[in-house]
Amino acid sequence: MKTLEEVLNDWEAVIGLEIHTELTTLKTKMFCGCKLEFGAEPNTHVCPVCLGLPGALPVPNKAAIQSIVLAGLATNCDIEKHSMFYRKNYMYPDMAKNFQTTQGPVAFCMRGHLDLAVDGKAAGERHGLDSLEPGDAVENIERTDDGYVAHVGITRIHMEEDAGKMIHIGGDEGRIAGATHSLVDYNRAGTPLIELVTEPDLRTPEEARLFMQKLRQIFLALNISDCSMEEGSMRCDGNISLRRRGATKLGVKTELKNLNSFKSLHDGLQYEICRQAQVLEEGGQIYQETRHWDPSQKRTIVMRVKETADDYRLFPEPDLAPYDLTDEFIENVREKLPELPDQKAARYQRDFGLSAYDANHLVEHRFTVGFFESGITEITGITPEQVRAAEKGEAALPKLSKETRKRLEKLAKPLANLTLNDVSAYVNANPDVDLAQSPLTPKRAIELVELLADDVISSKQAKEVFQAVLDEDKDPNAIVEERGMKQVSDTGALEAVVDEVLAAHPDKVEQYRGGKTGLLGFFVGQCMKATRGQGNPKLLNQLIAKKLG
Ligand code: ADP
Ligand code: ZN
Ligand code: MG
Repeated sequence: MKTLEEVLNDWEAVIGLEIHTELTTLKTKMFCGCKLEFGAEPNTHVCPVCLGLPGALPVPNKAAIQSIVLAGLATNCDIEKHSMFYRKNYMYPDMAKNFQTTQGPVAFCMRGHLDLAVDGKAAGERHGLDSLEPGDAVENIERTDDGYVAHVGITRIHMEEDAGKMIHIGGDEGRIAGATHSLVDYNRAGTPLIELVTEPDLRTPEEARLFMQKLRQIFLALNISDCSMEEGSMRCDGNISLRRRGATKLGVKTELKNLNSFKSLHDGLQYEICRQAQVLEEGGQIYQETRHWDPSQKRTIVMRVKETADDYRLFPEPDLAPYDLTDEFIENVREKLPELPDQKAARYQRDFGLSAYDANHLVEHRFTVGFFESGITEITGITPEQVRAAEKGEAALPKLSKETRKRLEKLAKPLANLTLNDVSAYVNANPDVDLAQSPLTPKRAIELVELLADDVISSKQAKEVFQAVLDEDKDPNAIVEERGMKQVSDTGALEAVVDEVLAAHPDKVEQYRGGKTGLLGFFVGQCMKATRGQGNPKLLNQLIAKKLG
């Protein structure tokens, strides 16, 4: 098969996502009072409503409707004041009612969008970026310095309920193929679920991955779900088709299931794009079908040929009245909106002078936000809660002294670097670590970045101190002292070293003066050796150049 890059030279990939999120932070199910609890004893949270026993009547969960309206407002959707529930009929043992209660053509949230900042390696998948200048806009993207921003339309977010869980026994990896029998757990049946559907606006697997990641950050900020891709509380189906570059008509799509991690989402889409290209280039045809991504075999396999909407006999739910939302309800929900990742990134740029790149990457993960913000609090004494209250106009922010402002200016950027490089690498290598409980307290983090910013230690030494703080549970200052690591930035002391080195190499000094200025590096190297690696290289460079100039 061709590589993704080769395929995307000739073909345009068109991707749309359908993302299901269980509202796990709610207490009860969508249409009954059964408790929501992951991992409970099977079939202990069930009642006549979620089992669909005759005569049982559903009542919508108002807190769930608040959550979906929050999701809609946070993703720039129009909130529809009049919508209805429908029955989507299907017969499968995971749904005892034999239908799923969902929404029809009009959902609570319609016509939203998110803007994705795509940069670095991720931007490399987008075809034709090299021919654009920063500021240029084509199709749904705008070129930036480090990549581009993609505008992604959201068709709708609708309210529905989850099905129960099937457990297949005797088959391969719990799959139905080869199973001897199946068990069903209805605890999950009736869990409030929101489904977000995007427009077919995504063009690369990286864009799809970033969309999912951004949406997850937003939903976590809203606290409407624990958004666990492993436990299945956030699930994504990818729809993909190809068309020749320059063509406008959409191709036939396939739908990919089992994209249950960010890596699977990316790799599954990448594989499917390459597979479709091969089929089409060999003169074959793509069938509208549902395929399963198998991460261990790295391929997709057909699950079923696509059913059409008609098969579901969608009709208005006779047991639920059309739902009306008042302006007051919507405004009350709007009041609850927290600071969202994009707003956070804008604030980081505005208040701390960070680049768009640093700010966008800091807000990508909860732990990076947490670490960076606790460091900022350490410098300013202002807590994230105080910032939030100030943004809501509830209380003014305490004024920073001139000295604090100076320190903030000096330390924000190195703190961002520490978070995005060392801390991220550490958390990636130890995914279960809780930074708040680690020896790297905010106080120590700031001590460390201050040592670096003040040129007391080099960036190489800072990496050593970082590791030592974690390993030995000591303060950076103590580690630097103990290991005699201090970078020598005392001009007088360094000057003496420079004089010594120059005196020891009169021939090289002559050559340098004769035009061989490349020897500067040699002199710096000799001085570093003389200071056992502790001389401040920047300062040494300047001193040597001055003495020889
Ligand atoms: P279906 O009827 O199969 O459910 P929808 O029109 O409801 O299809 O779209 C489902 C998802 O597939 C949406 O995210 C949409 O953007 C995407 N989609 C629709 N048509 C295409 C296509 N030709 N190629 C890729 N994605 C598509
Ligand atoms: Zn129930
Ligand atoms: Mg559809």
